[in-house]
Amino acid sequence: MSEAYKVYAIKYAERDARRPEHFLGGDPHDVPMPMDYFVWAVVGRTQTWVVDTGFGATDATRRKRTLVRTASDGLAIVGIDASTVTDVILTHLHYDHVGGFDQFPAARFHLQDREMAFATGRHMTRSTFSHAFTASHIADVVLAVHESRVVFHDGDDELVPGLSVHLIGGHTDGLQVVRVVTEGGVVVLASDASHYYENMDAARPFPIVFDVGAMVEGYDRLRRLAGADGVIVPGHDPDVLRRFPLAAPGLDGIAVRLD
Ligand SMILES: [Zn+2]
Repeated sequence: MSEAYKVYAIKYAERDARRPEHFLGGDPHDVPMPMDYFVWAVVGRTQTWVVDTGFGATDATRRKRTLVRTASDGLAIVGIDASTVTDVILTHLHYDHVGGFDQFPAARFHLQDREMAFATGRHMTRSTFSHAFTASHIADVVLAVHESRVVFHDGDDELVPGLSVHLIGGHTDGLQVVRVVTEGGVVVLASDASHYYENMDAARPFPIVFDVGAMVEGYDRLRRLAGADGVIVPGHDPDVLRRFPLAAPGLDGIAVRLD
């Protein structure tokens, strides 16, 4: 029997972008294709799990992104108090997924072994792979390791019944996705295993990529994890806010229910 998990996607930032930026090798149609930024939450009867933490004002300014609300403000809109959340799943350590780290002072952070190795290892000496990381965030996570606030996973792991993480890699070496079995069916939070629906649907990789093969394999993996009736939720597609019902009346363009 699955627990009655509620699953939310909450938008916290946005940026203008164009189609050629979102596909490896570009795209002949140079038209607007904006990007949204999300955090996600899995709310069970007795516990809440937050997936990723957004970024803060410093990265917004430095990288010219528009922060519309912090992760904690977004979570508060659906009734979650970030300061009391005990478990945060980090899909990977790019700035837009770990940068809101300090908004979760009571949390331990679930991370893949391979992501930690990647974010602190030899590939970070090259801007090709380091540019989407902010070094101070990685340092914060290292400190958290020494405070026993990081829970490492190696591959696929069930955290509690109906909630599991799955190593996909590709975009970063240790990218993990989250699978939730809700009463309404399976929800797979793909994060950056597929930035847009179109990346996975057309098997056209996003250009920020460590291992193209693993990224393309990952699209099939997402479909297997979802099964025939499950849903896959991409990491940055504004369409997510149109395809799912609002989390509550008045939250148009802000938060949807995925379960
Ligand atoms: Zn991202």
